[in-house]
Amino acid sequence: MHRQGAARWRQDEGGGPAPARRKRVLVAGGAGFLGSHLCAALLAQGHEVTCLDNLLTGVEANLAHLEGPRFRFIRHDVCQALPEPLLVDEVYNLACPASPPQYQADPVHTMLTNVLGTQHLLALAARCGARFLQASTSEVYGDPEQHPQREDYRGHVSSTGPRACYDEGKRAAESLCFDYLRLGRADVRVARIFNTYGPRMRADDGRIVSNLICQALAGEDLTIYGDGTQTRSFCYATDLIRGLMALMAVRSNPDGPVNLGNPNEQSISQIAERVLALTESRSRIGFRPLPVDDPRRRCPDIGRAQDLLGWHPVVGLEQGLRPTIEWFAAHPPQVAAPQVP
Ligand code: NAD
Ligand code: UDP
Repeated sequence: MHRQGAARWRQDEGGGPAPARRKRVLVAGGAGFLGSHLCAALLAQGHEVTCLDNLLTGVEANLAHLEGPRFRFIRHDVCQALPEPLLVDEVYNLACPASPPQYQADPVHTMLTNVLGTQHLLALAARCGARFLQASTSEVYGDPEQHPQREDYRGHVSSTGPRACYDEGKRAAESLCFDYLRLGRADVRVARIFNTYGPRMRADDGRIVSNLICQALAGEDLTIYGDGTQTRSFCYATDLIRGLMALMAVRSNPDGPVNLGNPNEQSISQIAERVLALTESRSRIGFRPLPVDDPRRRCPDIGRAQDLLGWHPVVGLEQGLRPTIEWFAAHPPQVAAPQVP
């Protein structure tokens, strides 16, 4: 199927719209919530997409609608050397569990996914001359002392607590990315993603939006950790994917991380009230202990993304929650959501 070097897919092999320049794109973590939306959006633009995923938190069902000659799935753990000599133009690295109960279930593997996995994918990008986008996180700011969080804020992170495998793992991954950039080995972009929600989140992954909606639909108590005054800023998946693709596409390298998120900051209690109203649920609210190192406030300053990419989110909270609720109503959980240990 491929020629060496500047191989491109012929138009008759893939169908779909013919882009100005069809690219071969690797999406690591493509079977997960965000990765599966990204694979779909790339395919819709006519690109050739390879999804690399070990199905730790992703599921093949997320890829079911993506079958076709321009898509392929390789089951692989990015902690291991890549399984075959891939030839790509762009690499998106989303491989890493994102929900606290899931990334804390095997913290050593989470850290290694971020360090070894990012190194394997960066080396691939360097070998192919491919552009590389790292899915980093607002967690690199830890429990922030600066509000809203700008990219030049260095963060307030515990290197010893239960969230460190993720927070410090992502910080180490960023460090590797910027070393590859400084050394001229790869054109690397780093997106610091703030809380994102939407259809295809796992019902059992333990994050706030999925937990609240599933509990409300089942008529169970809504679990609020702490007193519910802690805040997060929730971005709808389509907005976020548009931001990732804009960051990958922008010609001049931003030469620093770029926050992507929705600055509409809400307390956890406000989100719970909104979910109760939209689901018309009679569930009640039950308070649980606040997990260790749980950040008090989180809100992105997205000035940089606006200036560099002309990007800003357009989907409001209620507008995004409605299709998310519909999706969970159609895909009820098979098992109870895990709680943070
Ligand atoms: P997700 O858990 O649904 O997806 C992660 C995917 O990576 C899964 O398909 C999983 O199987 C795969 N994966 C995990 N470890 C792997 C490994 N060692 N090798 C290969 N594949 C592996 O999470 P998501 O919400 O889609 O998040 C995607 C990325 O975006 C993650 O890197 C996450 O850190 C980042 N992010 C997400 C959010 C959010 O709110 N959703 C916020 C900040 C950052
Ligand atoms: N949270 C909660 N109830 C839940 C799940 C989470 O109150 O059932 C809280 C959690 O303690 C945190 C916020 O909601 O303060 C967001 O949690 P999530 O795991 O979605 O994201 P993160 O903490 O990684 O931002």
